[in-house]
Amino acid sequence: MSEPFEALSVETLAARLGATKALTSRIGENASGWKVREVGDGNLNLVFIVEGDKGAAVVKQALPYVRLVGESWPLPLKRSFFEYHALTRQQARAPGSVPEIYHFDESQALIIMEYLSPPHVILRKALIEGRQLPNIATDIGLFMARTLFRGSDLSMPTRERKADLALFADNVELCDITENLVFSDPYFDAKMNRHTSPQLDALVAELRADRDLKVEAQRLKHLFTANAETLLHGDLHSGSIMVTEAETRMIDPEFAFYGPMAFDVGMLLANFWMAFFSQRGHEHDGDRATTRVYLIDVIVETWAVFRREFSHLWGTERTGILYQKSLFEDQGDTLGAEQALDQMLYSIWTDMLGFAGIEIHRRILGLAHNADFETIADQDLRATCEAKALKFGRQIVVNRRRIHSIEEVNALAVLIE
Ligand code: ADP
Ligand code: MG
Ligand code: MG
Ligand code: MG
Repeated sequence: MSEPFEALSVETLAARLGATKALTSRIGENASGWKVREVGDGNLNLVFIVEGDKGAAVVKQALPYVRLVGESWPLPLKRSFFEYHALTRQQARAPGSVPEIYHFDESQALIIMEYLSPPHVILRKALIEGRQLPNIATDIGLFMARTLFRGSDLSMPTRERKADLALFADNVELCDITENLVFSDPYFDAKMNRHTSPQLDALVAELRADRDLKVEAQRLKHLFTANAETLLHGDLHSGSIMVTEAETRMIDPEFAFYGPMAFDVGMLLANFWMAFFSQRGHEHDGDRATTRVYLIDVIVETWAVFRREFSHLWGTERTGILYQKSLFEDQGDTLGAEQALDQMLYSIWTDMLGFAGIEIHRRILGLAHNADFETIADQDLRATCEAKALKFGRQIVVNRRRIHSIEEVNALAVLIE
C-alpha cells in the first residue's frame, strides 16, 4: 500500500526516511543524528541534502505545484516519475554522466540520489564567475551524442522504443511549459513575460512584429511537438549541469520526452552563447577577455565532439530500423551510409541553430530568466548585453539554413558582441 503524498520538510525528513534501506545503507542508520538542509535554488521542486555519520545523499521531491510560484500553478507529481526514468536511461546510455540513483518512491514523488558534493557547482554559476572548466565540451558533447543516438530508431529495438515513447508521452504538462514559455510567449505580450524595460522596449516591439521570426519559431515548435525522434533531456541548460575541474554531471531531466535531437543541443549551446554575451556585464578591467575566447572554444569543441561521437555511433551501433547496414555497408556502399549521416547531421545543425535562437529569446523576454544576465545589477549594462544576444538569436533562427559552420556562427557572435 502506498501512503498518500506528503511534502517533506527539514524537520520531518529523518523521521519519514529513517527506515529507508537505500538511504541508511549509504549515509548511516542513526537518523536522529542526520543533518538536513534544503538547497532550494531550483524553480520547481524541493531538494534536500541529508548527511549522516557514513555519508550524504540528495533527496529531491516534486510538489503538486510549481515551488517558485505556489499552489496557484498546479503541476503533476508525475514529473518525478519521468525524471527517474530519464535518469536510468541516461545512466545506461551515457554511463557516469548523471548522479547515481539510490531510490525512487512514486507515491511520494521522491528520488534519492548521489550527493554531488563541493567542489561540484552548477555550471552556470562557474561561468558567471568567469571560470574555465577544462572538460565540459567533451563531457557534454559525448553525453548528448550518446543519449540522443541511443534513444532513437537508429539504435533501439523498435518495440522497446515505441513502449518508451508511450511512457514519456504522458509528460504533457511539462511539455506544455516548454511549448508556451519557450516557443510562443516571447513573441507576444504574454502575461508572465518580463524584460529589462524601458531599455529593451523598442527591440522587443521589433521582434514581436518580425513575421519571419515568428513563422520560424512556430515551425520549430511544430518540430518539437511532432518529431518524436529520441528521448530528450528536455531542460539541458547550464543550470542543469554540475561540474568540477575533473567531471561533469547532468541533473534534472524532469522535462524528458521524445522530441527532436536538435532541441537538447540547441538549448545547451544557447546557454553557452548567453554566457558569452553576458561576460561584459561581469567584467572588471578587461578581465573577461580570455573567458570570452574560452567560451567560443567550448562551443566549437562541444559541437565537434557531438558530431564526432554521433558519427562514431552511426558506424558502430546503427542497429535500429533506420538506414540498415544491409542497404549500405553490407553491399559495399559505405558512401551511401556517409551520405545519409551527412544529411542527418545537417538537419540537426540547422534545427539546433533555430532552437538555440529561440532559447536565447525566451530567457530574455519570457518568464524564466538566466542568472547570467539577471545578476548584472546595472540595468543599462544588462540591457546592452541582452540586446546583443537578442539580435544574435534572431539571426540564427531566421538564417539557420544559410549558416554552414560553427565558426561562421561564432564569427557572428563576436561581431555583434
Ligand atoms: P529543480 O527541478 O527544482 O530545478 P534541480 O534538480 O535542478 O531542481 O535541483 C535544484 C538544485 O539542487 C540544483 O541547482 C543544485 O544546486 C542542487 N542539486 C540537485 N541535485 C543535486 C545533487 N545530486 N547533488 C548536489 N546538489 C544537487
Ligand atoms: Mg533545475
Ligand atoms: Mg533555474
Ligand atoms: Mg527541474
